[in-house]
Amino acid sequence: MLLTCPYCGPRDVSEFTYQGDGNRQRPAPSSQDLQAWNEYVYDRQNPAGDHNEIWQHSGGCRSHIRVLRNTVTHVVSSSAPVRGNTHHRATERRKPGAKA
Ligand SMILES: [Zn+2]
Repeated sequence: MLLTCPYCGPRDVSEFTYQGDGNRQRPAPSSQDLQAWNEYVYDRQNPAGDHNEIWQHSGGCRSHIRVLRNTVTHVVSSSAPVRGNTHHRATERRKPGAKA
């Protein structure tokens, strides 16, 4: 299976690490709604079809990407950065103490 990193192009899935379900909504950090936290931590969807997933290009640029993948056919419909403008290439990393 190939995943397309928006920065590196198509790469074998062995270069990527699955980071989880992209549909989860984390409760506010100050929330004391135990049911909401329990659902966030433990409940997972297991769809047979399109699934919104987060992957990390751990064997490459290390960026996180959002992938829409069909769990039955493994066809990837789209891939995009999780965050639009916070990607830093290895050669562009911030220096310690630099402002973001
Ligand atoms: Zn990459």
